[in-house]
Amino acid sequence: MKRFSIKTPALHWQIVIAIILAVTCGIFFPIHASYTAWIGKIFLSALKMVVMPLIAASIIAGVAGMDGGKGLGRLSAKTFAYYIGTSLLAILTGLMLANIFQPGKGLNLTVADSTMPVQSINSLSDTLYSIFPSNIFEAFSSGNLLGVIVFSLLFGYCITQIDSSRQKLLSNFFMAVSDTMMKLTQIILAFTPVGVFALVYSATAAQTHVGQLASGIGKYFMVVIFALSVHAVIWLPALLYSIGKISPLRHLAIMRNALLTAFSTSSSNAALPVTLSSLELKGGISARVCNFTLPLGATINMNGTALYECVAALFIAQAYGIELSIFQQIIVVFTALLASVGAAGIPMAGLVTMTIILSAVGLPAGGIALILAVDRPLDMIRTTINVYGDSVGCAIIAKSEGENPSGLT
Ligand code: ASP
Repeated sequence: MKRFSIKTPALHWQIVIAIILAVTCGIFFPIHASYTAWIGKIFLSALKMVVMPLIAASIIAGVAGMDGGKGLGRLSAKTFAYYIGTSLLAILTGLMLANIFQPGKGLNLTVADSTMPVQSINSLSDTLYSIFPSNIFEAFSSGNLLGVIVFSLLFGYCITQIDSSRQKLLSNFFMAVSDTMMKLTQIILAFTPVGVFALVYSATAAQTHVGQLASGIGKYFMVVIFALSVHAVIWLPALLYSIGKISPLRHLAIMRNALLTAFSTSSSNAALPVTLSSLELKGGISARVCNFTLPLGATINMNGTALYECVAALFIAQAYGIELSIFQQIIVVFTALLASVGAAGIPMAGLVTMTIILSAVGLPAGGIALILAVDRPLDMIRTTINVYGDSVGCAIIAKSEGENPSGLT
């Protein structure tokens, strides 16, 4: 079926300028951030507005066009293998660098210093329960992306099982809805520089604890950024080049607007419409692969969050002078994987699911208060890596499915 194609205007320079201006304003005029904050909120709401209908329609149309759901099992297996493999790679990178640089060593905190009560939540079981929502309309309205994905996959599959004339009707209908939502995304995208300016201005102005960067928190901050850079600049491009035979620079050029949106919104979900349109319309990857891998990736594949959680857990242990055995570090690795799967694609979700790791290895939950001050900038960066990881996976899987995406070759 023929999909429409739209030329996305080259927005990246406007977005980069908006970010630089916003950081400058945030540092020099923090109290005026409230004047523009509303623009950021509207931009974010507009992006969120398209996420649910876009995802549902795209997945349904994608699976319904798969001829009896053929190839879905193979696609799922590859996608999950990629997600688990790259998340573990990210975590091990964080683990290694946190052990080498020991950012928390010398802070000498005692458990009595840990005063912040952190609500004990079980995000992983919440994630499991959300897979089959009891009310699909509630799942749509509450932003339960995983529930909507699973429902849409099943719905799309069942379309392939009904009478062929009706099958065609529904399949065309959802394809048209998906194209319409993509068109809407393109329109919202035109406002990205203004929205990004307002969001980054507020985020910079709210960062009042910059002074702490000089102490141990500063070292922790640098180690997280260094580890994230190793993952984003070495491992992911290497995978893209060696397995996908795709030029990382070309891929980056296609993805720049989506990455800048992820950076400024700190939300994989909010960036999802941009990621989808970048890889499908500009990259030329099939709707089938994009619609299957990207929504799932935004929800459960978070390389940046997994790495950050591992470094943060080790930092907290070091700050409290708690020696973690090899066995405990292995537990950190696996719980960081689970915590990143459990984290939703929204701002600060990773900080909340940290409690899973801390309680698994008996670290004080109040340690989260330590890293709170620098969470926002780290969230912006780890979300960018999360989205980058999803996009690399999508491109590699498309190649392995025999595709030759026009924008990436
Ligand atoms: N903000 C991240 C995301 O949306 C999740 C996190 O807090 O790590 O991808």
